[in-house]
Amino acid sequence: MTDSPSPSGRPKTAKSFAFELFRPVLFAVCVIALALGGLLLAHRSSPQIAGQERQPPAAPAAPLPTIALAEPEPVPPVSFAEFKGFGDLKGGKDLGGFQMKPPSPAAEPEPPANDLYELTLRLERGDTVEKMLADIDVPEADRKQIAEKLKGLLKKRKLATGETVELMMQTLPEQPDAPRVLSLSIRPQPEREYVVARREDGGYDAEEKIYTVSPRIVRVEGVRDGSLQQSGIKAGAPSAAMVEFIRAMSYDVDFQRELKQGQKFTVLLEQLVTSDGKVTHPGRLLAGELRLLKRTVTVIRFRAQGGADGFYNPQGESVERSFLRTPMDASRLTSGFGMREHPILGFSALHAGVDFSAASGTPILAAGNGKVAMAGFNGGYGLYVKLQHTQDVATAYAHMSRLGPGIKPGTTVRQGQVIGFVGSTGMSTGPHLHYEFHRGGKPVNPLTQKFSMRATVGGKDLARFQALSRQYLAQLKSAPAVADASSTPPQQKTSPVPKAPATPQLAKGN
Ligand SMILES: [Zn+2]
Repeated sequence: MTDSPSPSGRPKTAKSFAFELFRPVLFAVCVIALALGGLLLAHRSSPQIAGQERQPPAAPAAPLPTIALAEPEPVPPVSFAEFKGFGDLKGGKDLGGFQMKPPSPAAEPEPPANDLYELTLRLERGDTVEKMLADIDVPEADRKQIAEKLKGLLKKRKLATGETVELMMQTLPEQPDAPRVLSLSIRPQPEREYVVARREDGGYDAEEKIYTVSPRIVRVEGVRDGSLQQSGIKAGAPSAAMVEFIRAMSYDVDFQRELKQGQKFTVLLEQLVTSDGKVTHPGRLLAGELRLLKRTVTVIRFRAQGGADGFYNPQGESVERSFLRTPMDASRLTSGFGMREHPILGFSALHAGVDFSAASGTPILAAGNGKVAMAGFNGGYGLYVKLQHTQDVATAYAHMSRLGPGIKPGTTVRQGQVIGFVGSTGMSTGPHLHYEFHRGGKPVNPLTQKFSMRATVGGKDLARFQALSRQYLAQLKSAPAVADASSTPPQQKTSPVPKAPATPQLAKGN
């Protein structure tokens, strides 16, 4: 500090000399600086930039994740942020954030100019219903009233971002720029709808509609095409119900040798439906029937007194057995997978096991409770696991790509636990599971083993079970079918209650 001279201490003569010499240069520099400064200021206050800086949390340009409510409109939805940005420029506000109801592809002509029309709007982040109404030019007095009525209805409840607001609108020829809201409806839960409707005198009424939810039994019938699970979903059954169905079957069914493409299955589902026909639960599996090459297998859900839900055959025997017939996640099995490279072999003196052909990585399940006797590489078997179940019975699994979590010799495993994943290690021509069933130390044909059942319905439960079983068996044939649901599930949510042609994808009645 001390040894550097202060600017004022510099020799005056040198400074003035330099000043004289460089005056034109300095002038030029000043002019440029001014110009730059001006530009910078102008740029700062330009509406575009200011707009970007101002648009607060409400303005992510990308559509919010709630867009997943998949609206039927073909036009990609424009976020409210974009809509606001362009509204002023274009002088029209009918751009984004909402669209007119789809004119229902087939018919319904455009509404006449002074007539009623429907709008479906979505609440964006940081949005309010009142703001939304202002954006579509609803007169202030109306939107104030509506907002107030709605507030009274909602009490303290908050509307979620992405919530759908259904509006019935009307424009009058004398006031084309000030549309009326005839009714506004918000339905945050299937059981609950908030409606604000316009009276003759221009005031608004508020109403909370409560819908009762009740069970409805429907039937889904399908034909196996690809994996059983996918075929079920395609036919209109929820994925969870199909997984349950397949699990209940895998104790008894050899999915690879007993099931072929084109075979029929039926599942009986209990849906929950509101009094106005909205499905609030797609269906819990009550019963199911699967045609196999040589037999038909039926499972029935039943809860024994003091027990948990389980599946039983119509004779009242639990489907659960001490061993799984298909020791794999059968919902992932597609018959025909890899068959050209690797024929699905069954038991023979030479082969000593059965093969399940499946995609690499398909989970392999412990066929029964037991202990890991071996886990590791084993010659031509590749990565291999052997489970000891009883002194007499053991199972073995070969060609795995990797072991299941925690699988090592000595570990106890439970039936259905993942012990490894399908691979093609060792002497293998393609991904598959080679499965062996050992009795007294020798491989035997697992398909011919009679596996003992876990439980049967008895005592006080028996009469109840028999009645239920009769009912379900009849309903598997006669319950109303879920109409072709393959095209609908995602639209359910945004379709307006009474009008949408797409909504009632489910057969009415019970
Ligand atoms: Zn094999």
